[in-house]
Amino acid sequence: MQQLQALIRAVPDFPSPGIVFRDITPLLADAGGFARCIALLAEPWRDAQVRTVCAIESRGFIFGAALATALGAGFVPLRKPGKLPPPVVAVDYELEYGHDRLEARADAFRSGERVLIVDDVLATGGTLCAARSLVAKLGAQVVGASVLIELAALPGRARWGDGAPLHALLAY
Ligand code: AMP
Repeated sequence: MQQLQALIRAVPDFPSPGIVFRDITPLLADAGGFARCIALLAEPWRDAQVRTVCAIESRGFIFGAALATALGAGFVPLRKPGKLPPPVVAVDYELEYGHDRLEARADAFRSGERVLIVDDVLATGGTLCAARSLVAKLGAQVVGASVLIELAALPGRARWGDGAPLHALLAY
Protein backbone atom coordinates (compact mmCIF):
# COMPACT_ATOMS: atom_id res chain seq x y z
CA MET A 1 0.00 0.00 0.00
CA GLN A 2 2.92 2.33 0.77
CA GLN A 3 4.20 1.72 -2.76
CA LEU A 4 0.87 2.88 -4.16
CA GLN A 5 0.80 5.88 -1.83
CA ALA A 6 4.26 6.87 -3.08
CA LEU A 7 2.81 7.06 -6.62
CA ILE A 8 0.25 9.72 -5.64
CA ARG A 9 1.57 13.26 -5.65
CA ALA A 10 0.28 15.80 -3.11
CA VAL A 11 0.05 19.25 -4.68
CA PRO A 12 -0.56 21.99 -2.08
CA ASP A 13 -2.82 24.95 -2.93
CA PHE A 14 -4.18 23.47 -6.17
CA PRO A 15 -6.62 24.27 -7.73
CA SER A 16 -7.21 26.86 -5.01
CA PRO A 17 -5.49 27.95 -1.78
CA GLY A 18 -5.83 25.49 1.11
CA ILE A 19 -6.63 22.45 -1.09
CA VAL A 20 -4.11 19.59 -1.23
CA PHE A 21 -4.76 18.09 -4.65
CA ARG A 22 -4.11 14.33 -4.94
CA ASP A 23 -2.51 13.85 -8.34
CA ILE A 24 -3.02 10.28 -9.56
CA THR A 25 -1.17 10.65 -12.89
CA PRO A 26 2.14 9.16 -11.60
CA LEU A 27 0.19 6.06 -10.49
CA LEU A 28 -1.48 5.75 -13.91
CA ALA A 29 1.90 6.02 -15.62
CA ASP A 30 3.33 3.14 -13.57
CA ALA A 31 2.29 -0.13 -15.28
CA GLY A 32 2.77 -2.34 -12.21
CA GLY A 33 1.30 0.18 -9.79
CA PHE A 34 -1.82 0.77 -11.86
CA ALA A 35 -2.43 -2.96 -12.38
CA ARG A 36 -1.99 -3.63 -8.65
CA CYS A 37 -4.31 -0.76 -7.78
CA ILE A 38 -7.10 -2.17 -9.98
CA ALA A 39 -6.62 -5.69 -8.56
CA LEU A 40 -6.87 -4.34 -5.00
CA LEU A 41 -9.90 -2.19 -5.83
CA ALA A 42 -11.64 -5.26 -7.30
CA GLU A 43 -10.89 -7.57 -4.35
CA PRO A 44 -13.79 -6.63 -1.98
CA TRP A 45 -16.36 -6.91 -4.78
CA ARG A 46 -15.37 -10.26 -6.33
CA ASP A 47 -18.42 -12.07 -4.89
CA ALA A 48 -20.81 -9.12 -4.97
CA GLN A 49 -22.35 -10.02 -8.34
CA VAL A 50 -21.80 -6.56 -9.72
CA ARG A 51 -23.46 -6.33 -13.10
CA THR A 52 -22.44 -2.76 -13.88
CA VAL A 53 -19.76 -0.40 -12.67
CA CYS A 54 -20.63 3.24 -13.04
CA ALA A 55 -18.12 6.01 -12.56
CA ILE A 56 -18.04 9.76 -12.33
CA GLU A 57 -16.50 12.03 -14.97
CA SER A 58 -13.65 12.36 -15.45
CA ARG A 59 -10.96 10.72 -13.35
CA GLY A 60 -13.48 8.21 -12.05
CA PHE A 61 -13.76 6.84 -15.61
CA ILE A 62 -10.13 5.68 -15.57
CA PHE A 63 -10.57 3.51 -12.49
CA GLY A 64 -14.19 2.57 -13.13
CA ALA A 65 -13.62 1.23 -16.64
CA ALA A 66 -10.61 -0.85 -15.57
CA LEU A 67 -12.51 -2.13 -12.53
CA ALA A 68 -15.48 -3.13 -14.70
CA THR A 69 -13.16 -5.27 -16.81
CA ALA A 70 -11.59 -6.83 -13.71
CA LEU A 71 -15.04 -7.73 -12.31
CA GLY A 72 -16.50 -8.94 -15.60
CA ALA A 73 -19.08 -6.13 -15.40
CA GLY A 74 -20.34 -3.54 -17.87
CA PHE A 75 -19.54 0.16 -17.56
CA VAL A 76 -21.87 3.17 -17.43
CA PRO A 77 -20.47 6.73 -17.40
CA LEU A 78 -22.10 9.38 -15.19
CA ARG A 79 -21.34 12.58 -17.06
CA LYS A 80 -21.17 16.32 -16.62
CA PRO A 81 -24.10 18.28 -18.15
CA GLY A 82 -24.49 18.45 -21.92
CA LYS A 83 -22.11 15.61 -22.82
CA LEU A 84 -24.59 12.77 -23.38
CA PRO A 85 -27.15 12.80 -26.19
CA PRO A 86 -30.82 12.69 -25.08
CA PRO A 87 -32.71 11.15 -23.46
CA VAL A 88 -30.87 11.66 -20.15
CA VAL A 89 -31.83 11.71 -16.48
CA ALA A 90 -30.04 14.18 -14.17
CA VAL A 91 -29.45 14.99 -10.53
CA ASP A 92 -28.34 18.38 -9.24
CA TYR A 93 -26.10 18.64 -6.21
CA GLU A 94 -24.39 21.26 -4.08
CA LEU A 95 -20.66 21.91 -4.12
CA GLU A 96 -18.73 23.93 -1.55
CA TYR A 97 -19.12 26.90 -3.90
CA GLY A 98 -22.05 26.63 -6.30
CA HIS A 99 -23.68 23.51 -7.67
CA ASP A 100 -23.21 20.86 -10.33
CA ARG A 101 -25.18 18.21 -12.19
CA LEU A 102 -24.61 14.57 -13.16
CA GLU A 103 -26.37 12.94 -16.09
CA ALA A 104 -26.84 9.35 -17.24
CA ARG A 105 -28.55 7.76 -20.20
CA ALA A 106 -32.23 7.36 -19.35
CA ASP A 107 -32.10 3.63 -20.18
CA ALA A 108 -28.66 3.00 -18.63
CA PHE A 109 -29.77 0.22 -16.25
CA ARG A 110 -32.23 -2.64 -16.09
CA SER A 111 -34.62 -2.52 -13.16
CA GLY A 112 -32.91 -3.74 -9.96
CA GLU A 113 -29.53 -4.45 -11.56
CA ARG A 114 -26.56 -4.49 -9.20
CA VAL A 115 -24.39 -1.41 -9.60
CA LEU A 116 -21.05 -0.42 -8.05
CA ILE A 117 -20.21 3.32 -8.04
CA VAL A 118 -16.57 4.35 -8.51
CA ASP A 119 -14.65 7.61 -8.17
CA ASP A 120 -11.03 8.59 -7.65
CA VAL A 121 -11.33 10.73 -4.49
CA LEU A 122 -13.95 10.95 -1.72
CA ALA A 123 -13.86 14.42 -0.15
CA THR A 124 -17.12 15.91 1.19
CA GLY A 125 -19.13 13.07 -0.35
CA GLY A 126 -21.45 15.32 -2.37
CA THR A 127 -20.43 13.81 -5.71
CA LEU A 128 -20.66 10.18 -4.61
CA CYS A 129 -24.07 10.72 -2.95
CA ALA A 130 -25.35 12.46 -6.10
CA ALA A 131 -24.20 9.46 -8.13
CA ARG A 132 -26.08 7.15 -5.76
CA SER A 133 -29.26 9.24 -6.15
CA LEU A 134 -28.95 9.13 -9.92
CA VAL A 135 -28.47 5.35 -10.05
CA ALA A 136 -31.43 4.86 -7.69
CA LYS A 137 -33.57 7.26 -9.75
CA LEU A 138 -32.89 5.06 -12.76
CA GLY A 139 -34.19 1.97 -10.95
CA ALA A 140 -30.92 0.13 -10.28
CA GLN A 141 -29.65 -1.23 -6.95
CA VAL A 142 -26.48 0.35 -5.51
CA VAL A 143 -24.42 -2.50 -4.00
CA GLY A 144 -21.71 -0.12 -2.80
CA ALA A 145 -19.06 2.41 -3.69
CA SER A 146 -15.34 2.20 -4.25
CA VAL A 147 -12.83 5.04 -4.22
CA LEU A 148 -9.09 5.06 -4.61
CA ILE A 149 -8.56 7.80 -2.01
CA GLU A 150 -10.62 8.85 1.01
CA LEU A 151 -9.84 12.22 2.61
CA ALA A 152 -10.59 11.02 6.12
CA ALA A 153 -10.69 14.45 7.76
CA LEU A 154 -13.71 15.37 5.63
CA PRO A 155 -17.26 14.11 6.22
CA GLY A 156 -17.60 12.06 3.02
CA ARG A 157 -17.97 8.67 4.71
CA ALA A 158 -20.51 10.00 7.25
CA ARG A 159 -22.49 11.56 4.43
CA TRP A 160 -22.52 8.27 2.52
CA GLY A 161 -23.87 6.54 5.64
CA ASP A 162 -24.06 2.80 6.20
CA GLY A 163 -26.82 1.85 3.78
CA ALA A 164 -24.29 0.25 1.42
CA PRO A 165 -20.58 -0.55 1.87
CA LEU A 166 -18.00 2.07 0.93
CA HIS A 167 -14.47 0.81 0.22
CA ALA A 168 -11.45 3.12 0.06
CA LEU A 169 -8.06 1.75 -0.94
CA LEU A 170 -6.03 4.61 0.54
CA ALA A 171 -6.82 7.18 3.22
CA TYR A 172 -5.15 10.50 3.97
P1 AMP B 1 -16.66 15.65 -3.06
O1 AMP B 1 -17.93 15.76 -3.83
O2 AMP B 1 -16.39 16.83 -2.19
O3 AMP B 1 -16.54 14.32 -2.31
O4 AMP B 1 -15.48 15.68 -4.11
C1 AMP B 1 -15.14 14.56 -4.87
C2 AMP B 1 -14.77 14.93 -6.27
O5 AMP B 1 -13.89 16.05 -6.32
C3 AMP B 1 -14.05 13.76 -6.91
O6 AMP B 1 -14.65 13.53 -8.18
C4 AMP B 1 -12.61 14.18 -7.02
O7 AMP B 1 -12.12 13.94 -8.33
C5 AMP B 1 -12.57 15.67 -6.70
N1 AMP B 1 -11.69 16.02 -5.57
C6 AMP B 1 -12.10 16.54 -4.38
N2 AMP B 1 -11.06 16.80 -3.59
C7 AMP B 1 -9.96 16.43 -4.27
C8 AMP B 1 -8.55 16.44 -3.96
N3 AMP B 1 -8.06 16.89 -2.80
N4 AMP B 1 -7.69 15.95 -4.90
C9 AMP B 1 -8.16 15.49 -6.07
N5 AMP B 1 -9.47 15.47 -6.42
C10 AMP B 1 -10.37 15.93 -5.53
